[in-house]
Amino acid sequence: MSRRHNRAMMAANWKMNHLKADAISCCRVLKQGLAERPVPRGQSRVAIFPSFPLIPVVVAELAGTELAVGGQDLHPDDKGAHTGDVSGPQLADAGCAWVLCGHSERRQDHGESDAVVARKVAAAARNGLAPLICAGETREERQAGRTFGVLERQLRTAVAPLTGESSQAATFAVAYEPVWAIGSGETATPEMAQEVHAFLRLLLGELIGDDAEGLSILYGGSATPDNAAGLFAQPDVDGFLVGGASLDPQKFLAIIRHSG
Ligand code: PEP
Repeated sequence: MSRRHNRAMMAANWKMNHLKADAISCCRVLKQGLAERPVPRGQSRVAIFPSFPLIPVVVAELAGTELAVGGQDLHPDDKGAHTGDVSGPQLADAGCAWVLCGHSERRQDHGESDAVVARKVAAAARNGLAPLICAGETREERQAGRTFGVLERQLRTAVAPLTGESSQAATFAVAYEPVWAIGSGETATPEMAQEVHAFLRLLLGELIGDDAEGLSILYGGSATPDNAAGLFAQPDVDGFLVGGASLDPQKFLAIIRHSG
């Protein structure tokens, strides 16, 4: 199996959508779809990121499958007086293997700085959760020619907790999510995505060494079954973090198929 296939990963970010019944039916469609037409073993890791109250039903539905579950956020501290927040130990205890860190909606809605994102990445690693680190530029930053600088700043800070001497070889993945493409119906072209992903792999090579070759770098931002093939054909686009289209399990399955 090629290194490329080992990197393939598909992630569904359900955001603040779905009630229990929707979540259960989505999981069942995904399970059935993958059982009927399996993606070759190891060629695509799949992770679902439901909102917190749905995590128990999704974990129960996906038990015994290779589909992993993740939280959409976590608090930098492991416990304490933080009303409304959820900790790394709680996510791990609920059966999560992954957690999103630095999603642009957290940065925008909750003012999360790069430093806070880094503390969340550290909390994830400390609790055995694999962080899926999101980074991306706004439209204004792209127009001002600042895309690479912004991404470098975001990633250098977020990845730092995973590179210290005391850190074990932590599992993590990165999602390039141009803010202007999220939920907008406007997608980065395959060439734009490849240019950024190649830059990120080089940068990550500097930060984590040879492991960057095996790291999954996902694209996120209005990915659909119609545009996934062109994006996935790029050598450094290893899969997708899918928001809107992942709410329809048939669409998410169609996107997963592009990695099989
Ligand atoms: C996201 O929020 O991570 C995302 C990529 O959303 P969408 O696919 O809806 O653009």
